[in-house]
Amino acid sequence: MTYDSENIFAKILQGEIPNKTIYENEHVLAFEDINPQAPVHILIIPKGPYADMVDFSTNASEEEQAAFTKSISEVVKIAQLESTGFRAIANTGTDGLQEVPHYHLHILGGRPLGPMVNL
Ligand code: 5GP
Repeated sequence: MTYDSENIFAKILQGEIPNKTIYENEHVLAFEDINPQAPVHILIIPKGPYADMVDFSTNASEEEQAAFTKSISEVVKIAQLESTGFRAIANTGTDGLQEVPHYHLHILGGRPLGPMVNL
């Protein structure tokens, strides 16, 4: 997937669209999903221009990848999901129904989340 610099998360990163920030570091922004599917629904995105999980894991620097991984535990702590648990989802490509072409990890929690996939 090629990176479209006009995508909605690129606009959030450029400050053109507001967001409810949960956590931020040099390489990562985490913010509330606009259409939450659970009491807690946070999106973690890299600040770099990576279209999806494969692009990110192939092309992001080790520093960016480390910062992204570290941000997961920070977000989980801030959202108080440590004891109850959560689900992390990275929709990718056509079968994964990825809508926004900027890599993002959904963090969902705050209630039992049911089966992993509804077929
Ligand atoms: P995807 O289907 O690509 O994995 O998920 C995209 C997510 O981005 C959806 O859960 C959707 O609600 C969220 N989203 C789309 N536009 C915006 C926006 O402008 N702001 C925020 N905070 N979330 C958005």
